[in-house]
Amino acid sequence: MSAKILDGKKLAESLRAEVREGVTKFGLEHGRFPGLHVILVGEDPASQIYTRNKEKAAAEVGIRGKLHVLPVDTSEAELMALLDRLNTDEEVDGILVQLPLPKQIREQRVLDAIRPEKDVDGFHPVNAGLLASGRPSLVPCTPRGSMKLIALADKRLEGARAVVVGRSNIVGKPMAQLLLAANATVTMAHSRTSNLPAVCREADVLVVAVGKAELVRGDWVKPGAVVIDVGMNRIELPSSIAGDTKKTKLVGDVAYDEVKEVASFITPVPGGVGPMTIACLLENTVIASQARGAGHNPAPPTRRGQ
Ligand code: NDP
Repeated sequence: MSAKILDGKKLAESLRAEVREGVTKFGLEHGRFPGLHVILVGEDPASQIYTRNKEKAAAEVGIRGKLHVLPVDTSEAELMALLDRLNTDEEVDGILVQLPLPKQIREQRVLDAIRPEKDVDGFHPVNAGLLASGRPSLVPCTPRGSMKLIALADKRLEGARAVVVGRSNIVGKPMAQLLLAANATVTMAHSRTSNLPAVCREADVLVVAVGKAELVRGDWVKPGAVVIDVGMNRIELPSSIAGDTKKTKLVGDVAYDEVKEVASFITPVPGGVGPMTIACLLENTVIASQARGAGHNPAPPTRRGQ
């Protein structure tokens, strides 16, 4: 039997509709709309597409988005000065620095400089620490979106065996924390894991965030498992399909055609985790604005006696 598809595009649409309502409510309460500032340094083509998509998605739900495009030779000090300005700007609720950064800029230093309460990517060590202590505030968008997809599968996580393949700070580690918080028994696998196929076969919920095209094969998956494929890999099509022109295709870290015959639910690539990541960024922006909102009402304070 073929797995049911966890449609991230559709789920992201309904999440965006909820976010739009949150944005309108915030606007009515605070006399301004949530503000999201995205910083792009350099001209990496993939990053240009990602940041433009984020700006567009923000505008569609009524968030006041601004994209700051800085030249590739921007110094770390210049970027830090911009962050300083945005950190103290009352109308900026969310700040996101698109990665990767040019080599003259220390990535960790920059991410650490974003105020945790404006860190809508959830990468700041304070937010990572809160998540690890079971006190989530701003949670990284891709794991957050993946959890919503798992919820769509109606899979009881309590007591379930979950395996996360990949241990990056932005996907694998926060994903494992969220599964743990949902009372799953979590195993984290990575490039040094021995007998990875056997580890994966133990999973009732398998999340793969590796960056290796179609690494996970059909016989690595337990029958009936829920499979979340975070990977996004662009591969060249063989000339037998593409002809003389070079054609590429986006594939995940999971061999979709094989795994869908074994799993009960699976996310497609594209159309699975990707759209949820952007929708969760918008959701995080509203969460950040609401958390800061109370102290930033632009209406003049009422004076005593008036
Ligand atoms: P990283 O490169 O930061 O981390 C990759 C992880 O995979 C590492 O922990 C690495 O192990 C592990 N790994 C690498 N090779 C193997 C292997 N052969 N077997 C087992 N584990 C392996 O990647 P990210 O976490 O940033 O991203 C992972 C994938 O998810 C990428 O394809 C990326 O494009 C995609 N992505 C998709 C998003 C979306 O919105 N859909 C958002 C973010 C990422 P080790 O630590 O030992 O080196």
